[in-house]
Amino acid sequence: MRQRRRIAGAIFAALVFTGTGVASAGAEGQSVFVTSPAQPMNVGDAIAAATAYHDSGAYDKDVALVASQAAAWIAERAPSVQRPAVVFDIDETALANWEVIKRDNFGRPVQGPCDLALDGPCGWAAWDQLAADPAIAPTLEAFKAAKTAKAAVFFITGRPEDQRAATEKNLRETGYDGFDRLYMVPPGAKFGSAADYKAPIRAEIEAAGYTIIANIGDQPSDLLGGYAERIFLLPNPFYRVH
Ligand SMILES: [Mg+2]
Repeated sequence: MRQRRRIAGAIFAALVFTGTGVASAGAEGQSVFVTSPAQPMNVGDAIAAATAYHDSGAYDKDVALVASQAAAWIAERAPSVQRPAVVFDIDETALANWEVIKRDNFGRPVQGPCDLALDGPCGWAAWDQLAADPAIAPTLEAFKAAKTAKAAVFFITGRPEDQRAATEKNLRETGYDGFDRLYMVPPGAKFGSAADYKAPIRAEIEAAGYTIIANIGDQPSDLLGGYAERIFLLPNPFYRVH
């Protein structure tokens, strides 16, 4: 199936990008091909590429590449800062949701049940309440580097407050134990973007006397808006949070 998809994709790319985007008189033995070359990437092809990236181990390798640099920076920098702090995002940064990403075929329905006994899709809110995410191991190493260096650790997540108990349980049980504070979206709060929610919290942390030496996330919106000496963007081709 994957093989067939790859071949179809290659044929489409070859047809469109060799410039045969409009009707042309076919040479002998060639078909006249008519299409519109101006269209975004095919979603099915993107899913196949993202799945291959995950399943081949390339994703894990790239996560480790970024997170290990964060761990090294934290260990190096924290001792020379008065009150060092490290900020982590949660989903696809500290904890992995691959199980639900796969079940939902890369869609992100928030509502709806999640029954792991069934081979079917899950609502993300119900999934989060299961507290079943495994840790992303290289990020856990960065967390441990922060704890060893006596840096304060703050999680800032787009998950809502009503997921606090499950999220704290999931973090603790996977090894993220002893963090200073978990910031979650308050009931009814609305933000234009995740950056509009997260950057002011970092400002608040620094106003309390901390220096955020590292901010680690998987979305640009985790990192935009300043208040961190270094920002680390883990790969995530699976979904986008604006
Ligand atoms: Mg995330």
